[in-house]
Amino acid sequence: MTELVNVSDLNQFIYCPRRYWYLHFYDTQGRNYERIDGKTTHENQSTRSDWLNELYLESEEVGLKGKIDVLDLDSSRVVPVERKRAESGQYYQSDKIQLAGYCLLLEQHLNEPVEEGAIYLYETDQRMHIPITEQHRQLVRESVEQMRSMTVDSVPPLVDNPRKCRSCSAKSYCMPYETAMLEPSKAQQTGWEDPQAVRSELES
Ligand code: SF4
Repeated sequence: MTELVNVSDLNQFIYCPRRYWYLHFYDTQGRNYERIDGKTTHENQSTRSDWLNELYLESEEVGLKGKIDVLDLDSSRVVPVERKRAESGQYYQSDKIQLAGYCLLLEQHLNEPVEEGAIYLYETDQRMHIPITEQHRQLVRESVEQMRSMTVDSVPPLVDNPRKCRSCSAKSYCMPYETAMLEPSKAQQTGWEDPQAVRSELES
């Protein structure tokens, strides 16, 4: 049986495939503040009667497994809700793709289309509804395929946007600056082509 991909790892992969590689194969234990704090906050949430908390699902067909934070049952449609802690007060493309992964799992479970999810941000106490498009679904499928084909002996290139490295919990293992200096091929078309300039920018 091929290993199922954790939906939360989709988020890591979309953020940076190299980061996912380190978390998956290298076991950095690099849980950052958001992940630890998010887990603690989840545990402290009260339960509403029209919510279902923490539904675990898996599907061979979509290649995913994962736990939906909350299912909102208080409408004509079932809406999966992903709760996020983000100091910036905004969500990212990687969060949307994670949500799309949950929607695909839920579709399999319910045997009906799930075309919308929601992201709740603790910082702003806002809940944003996200339509799940065919592009989101396609990106989930492609990502699952790529994640499953990764091997321990092939480290992905550096991330496409060096600013992401600033707060990355895998940075001390990945060593983007040193990698860009010593293995220029890993830096091509990533924004890390001039490592000294990038380091100056990140430290300014
Ligand atoms: S430090 Fe940058 S390149 Fe390295 S894993 Fe993190 S985001 Fe990716």
